[in-house]
Amino acid sequence: MNGRRTIGFVGLGHMGGPMAARLAGAGHRVVGHDLVPELLATAVAAGVEAAGSAAEVAAGADVVITMLPAGRHVLGLYREEGLLAAARPGTLFVDCSTIDVADARAAHEAAGAAGMRALDAPVSGGVVGAEAGTLTFMAGGGEAEFAEAEPVLAALGKRAVHCGGPGAGQAAKICNNMILGVSMIAVSEAFVLGERLGLSHQALYDVASAASGQCWALTTNCPVPGPVPGSPANRDYRPGFAAPLMAKDLGLAADAARAAGVATELGSRAAELYAAYAEGPGQARDFSGIVTTLREHPVPPAAGAPHTAQDGDGA
Ligand code: NAD
Repeated sequence: MNGRRTIGFVGLGHMGGPMAARLAGAGHRVVGHDLVPELLATAVAAGVEAAGSAAEVAAGADVVITMLPAGRHVLGLYREEGLLAAARPGTLFVDCSTIDVADARAAHEAAGAAGMRALDAPVSGGVVGAEAGTLTFMAGGGEAEFAEAEPVLAALGKRAVHCGGPGAGQAAKICNNMILGVSMIAVSEAFVLGERLGLSHQALYDVASAASGQCWALTTNCPVPGPVPGSPANRDYRPGFAAPLMAKDLGLAADAARAAGVATELGSRAAELYAAYAEGPGQARDFSGIVTTLREHPVPPAAGAPHTAQDGDGA
């Protein structure tokens, strides 16, 4: 193919495995590595060349992509495991993992100090998007780095948005997912309240989906079975977007808000609720399954207090 590149790929898990396979399928030479031998073997069967170490991945690569669980893995590879040290000067490092904004900026700095160029480019679209090549990328870094990465990312996704300088991609990702986490809880609470008020799921859906309550959490990932046949609620909350990943992203958003001195009150409460759900019944379930635990939450005492004239009733 025209524009064939040698791409190093570290982290061949749920997301990285299908992404590396798609790059190989698009005609790039892909050299991959993962700590789990079975994942490496699956990637090899899809056309990826196996490397014995992360450093081996970087040697000879034009672009190095990482798709790892957290910031400490990215920084560990960049700094201690020799990923940066093994690359040719000026190699472009694209980290697609979802990590802390501060860690992303530290990764940019480490890359720059080693004579490399970097882009943070987290994704949305999940495993289905990784397999189908329909991910959305949100990128942070220089214009030139984004322009160089774009043709590679085009094999993996339908859209790449350049959000700004180092860390801006991660910032966009956690802000978006904070909207999603809060709105899923709002939609779920509305269905639970509607149930208690004798409202059918379908009636509430028909109104809210055509009114100002309309949002993705309602119309695509509806947390109750019935109104949206394709939503995870119709298959006992099989993910989809797993609750532990939502808990992780909301935790990153809460950390970033604290560091930036911003009171994201609903975002922080959503982080707490998702952390509890993900550690309990939501461990292997879609994030919309939180509706099942919200139904059982005890009513706080203040909610039962009588409404008096002093409360104010301006609205
Ligand atoms: P995963 O755990 O399936 O994959 C991560 C892989 O990295 C694992 O296979 C692990 O063995 C490998 N790894 C870790 N340290 C390594 C090292 N030092 N050297 C080589 N390999 C190493 O995770 P995932 O679901 O693929 O998610 C990856 C990233 O994408 C995460 O940051 C996640 O938040 C983000 N993300 C995931 C989804 C999703 O739906 N799964 C959606 C959007 C974003």
